[in-house]
Amino acid sequence: MTFLERTTDARRYRAWEGNMEADYIYTSGLAGQRFFVALRDEGRLLAARCTACGLDYLPPRIFCEECFAELTEFVPVPPEGQVASLTVAHQDRTGALASPPQVWAFVTFKGVRGGLLHRLLATPDAARPGMRVHIRVRPREARTGTIADIEGFEPARSTK
Ligand SMILES: [Zn+2]
Repeated sequence: MTFLERTTDARRYRAWEGNMEADYIYTSGLAGQRFFVALRDEGRLLAARCTACGLDYLPPRIFCEECFAELTEFVPVPPEGQVASLTVAHQDRTGALASPPQVWAFVTFKGVRGGLLHRLLATPDAARPGMRVHIRVRPREARTGTIADIEGFEPARSTK
């Protein structure tokens, strides 16, 4: 095949086999750092507040999406959230059967823009959008400053 010829059959492309080094380190950023330190040390969720717009952001960020102001104020997220959506996973991330199935939910909080995706500590039959939940964090000595410091969202007592 010359350079004037084109193929539309991907099976005819030539290929070299080899390895390419690709190591990356991602930081959590300024707002993420505050979020994870508060989660680890105090066991609570923080949102970033834009005082100009009156908006709180979760996950926290360093600039307001509306007015582009730099956000330097962090406020606690209300203790109770609401399941906005959920899904049931029957396999874990390796493809192995998850037994029992895991429920994952996107949870929003009143007055906060955004939300948090995490495990919902309820059976698939009991899980439903709209249910009230709060976070359950690992014991202080087991926390490492990652999202895994949260065990999950558990149903609030009022909805059990
Ligand atoms: Zn703003």
